[in-house]
Amino acid sequence: MARPETWLKVTPKGLFCAPGDFYVDPHSAVERAIITHGHADHARPGHGKVLATAETLAINALRMGEKSAREAQALAYGETIRIGEVDVRLAPAGHVLGSAQVVMEYAGQRVVVSGDYKRRTDPTCTAFDVVPCDVFITEATFALPVFRHPEDTGEIAKLLASVDRNSDRAHVVGVYALGKAQRVMALLRQAGYDRPFYVHGALQPLSALYGDFGIELGDLRSVTPENKGTLAGEIVLAPPGATSDRWSRGLPEPLVAFASGWMRIRQRARQRSVELPMILSDHADWDELTATIEEVDAGEVWITHGRDDALAHYAETRGIRARALSMIGYEEEDE
Ligand SMILES: [Zn+2]
Ligand SMILES: [Zn+2]
Repeated sequence: MARPETWLKVTPKGLFCAPGDFYVDPHSAVERAIITHGHADHARPGHGKVLATAETLAINALRMGEKSAREAQALAYGETIRIGEVDVRLAPAGHVLGSAQVVMEYAGQRVVVSGDYKRRTDPTCTAFDVVPCDVFITEATFALPVFRHPEDTGEIAKLLASVDRNSDRAHVVGVYALGKAQRVMALLRQAGYDRPFYVHGALQPLSALYGDFGIELGDLRSVTPENKGTLAGEIVLAPPGATSDRWSRGLPEPLVAFASGWMRIRQRARQRSVELPMILSDHADWDELTATIEEVDAGEVWITHGRDDALAHYAETRGIRARALSMIGYEEEDE
C-alpha cells in the first residue's frame, strides 16, 4: 500500500498522478489531462490528450475551439478506465453541466478529487455523488462559517417580487456565462416565470449548448439596439462586467442584480453597485463542505484552494488529517 502523497504530487503545472502519468485540471499545457469541468481556471488550452465528460468536452470545444486539446476522450459518469496503473472514473460534482469528481484507485487506495462542487439540487446538472475514499481532495472557496447559502427559492422569489414592484425598470441580472446563467433561468422557470429572457450575446452559445444536452430554458431573446428601450419589466441576463457598463445604457432604469455566493458580503455588492444581491452559489457552503468531509469518510483531506485554514481546523477536530495544498491558478471568477 503506497501512501497517496508518494504517487500524487503537487507540481508547478498542477496535481500530477505519477503511476497514470496524467494531471488533473493542470494550470498549463500538458501531455495528458483529466478535466473536472469547463470553467476557464480548470480547463485550459493546449493539452495533448484530454479526458472529461462529453458535456465538458463540448463546453471546452465551444470555448476554445481546436486549441482545447489535440485528442479528446469522453468518459461517462460511473464508467471506469485504466490509465497506466490507475483505475479512473468520474462521478457527478453538481457544480455545472458535465462537472465531475475524479476517482482514482491505485495500490489499494482510493483518492477523490472533488473539483468545484455543491450539494444542493440544481436543475441544470447531475447531483453530487458521495464517493467514500481514503483521501478526499476538496475545494474550499466558501470554507468559512459565515458562508451559509440560503435556499435558492428565496433568492429567486426576491427577484420576482422586485420585478413585480418595479415594472417600469429593466432587471439586469449579473451571471457567469457557464453554469450560473443557465441555473438562474432554470430556477426562474421552476418558479413559474414564463416570460422571455433577454440575454446578452456572451451567454447565448453556452445556453444553447445546455439546450443541446436537454436542459430547456424556454424563450431566450437577444438584446438589440432596437428592443433595448422596451425592456421595462423584463429580466435581462448579462455577464457581471456588462451589468454596470456601457452595455446596459439604454435599458429603462436598469435595476442591477448579481447572483453569486459572494453576495453574502455586503461590501462586495456595494463595490459592484448591485441593488439586488442574490446569494446563489455553484460552490459548496460551509455546511456542505463539512458534511461532505464527514460523508466521504476519508482519513485524510487535502484542500486545493480557497480558505483552507478553517476547513483544515474543522477536519482535525474530527480526527481527519488535513493538508493545505495552496494551489495557485484557481480563481474565484466562476462564481
Ligand atoms: Zn468552477
Ligand atoms: Zn474553480
